[in-house]
Amino acid sequence: MKAFQLIACGTPGRFELRDLPDLQAGPGEVVVHVRACGLNHLDLWLEEAGLPIKPALPRTPGGEIAGTVAHIGEGVADWQPGERVAVQSNLFCGACEFCRAGEESACLNGVLLGVQVDGGFAGQVRVPARALVRLPDKVDFIASAALTLAGSTAMRMLTQRASVRPGDWVLAMGAASGVGSAAIQIARGLGARVLSTASSPAKRDLALRLGAEHVVDTAAPDWPAEVRRLTGKRGVDVVVEHIGGEGLPKIFECLARGGTVVTCGATAGRNVTFDLWPFFVKQQRLVGSYGRSRADMVETLAWAADGRLQAVVDAVLPLAETGEAFARLRARQVLGKLVIVP
Ligand SMILES: [Zn+2]
Repeated sequence: MKAFQLIACGTPGRFELRDLPDLQAGPGEVVVHVRACGLNHLDLWLEEAGLPIKPALPRTPGGEIAGTVAHIGEGVADWQPGERVAVQSNLFCGACEFCRAGEESACLNGVLLGVQVDGGFAGQVRVPARALVRLPDKVDFIASAALTLAGSTAMRMLTQRASVRPGDWVLAMGAASGVGSAAIQIARGLGARVLSTASSPAKRDLALRLGAEHVVDTAAPDWPAEVRRLTGKRGVDVVVEHIGGEGLPKIFECLARGGTVVTCGATAGRNVTFDLWPFFVKQQRLVGSYGRSRADMVETLAWAADGRLQAVVDAVLPLAETGEAFARLRARQVLGKLVIVP
């Protein structure tokens, strides 16, 4: 099989398209024929050695995988070759106290697919059978690979980590990002009124098309004032955030009393300072959200199957052009998702 492998970390890293032997499924494992794999910021962090986890190289990146079961290992009873699947990229042990409670993303023995083990920018990927989720007939491989990582992250943030109620104001940061584009649609589907942010006219149009009522440009120095104006000086009930860095204090300026900032990343920086006085006086919350459980993926795919959640795909590229996809995502020249088809 072909595999697009990272052989040296850097900005950019060094990649090679390699011929590797076909994979064999061990006990409890499944080999999936990869039909599509989405690119995410996590892949960029792997490329630049920006993760707290040091991966062994060479490594095949890619965690947002849709495909068909190629073959099954000993003891796998639930899956048959040919079945259409999406892969839960937070590989989980299934045995620790969090897994037993269905909280797979809090697994004490979690392994990141495409970081700690080889991922889906390849013809095949090998995963534990428990990582598979059935792909509904109405969701094609490209849509799944554009939704099941970023989209299910947004689903978890809005339904499990924060609870959005009809009529709430939600600010979804970064309309053109995978998480942002899904968060706008999911918040709307939950009955919320939605604001988003965008840095170009094309990204603004996308936000409006997905259901945002207004779009704010975070390049304006006092953009939180615009959010407060749009919400009748009240502020928003929930912010879906994945940027962090120096922008985080401004995000708190957008938040209503009793409101919640839910964050799943820190693409602009992990170390932040903010003023605790308004935070506790206004009785606000800052909530972390990490990955997803299979239940979040099942929910996301059900929304996609019945048309409530659209995949936003910028481009579909062949495996040989995966390096260009990394460069485009790093340059923030992407509207929605880049999907690789091996
Ligand atoms: Zn576990």
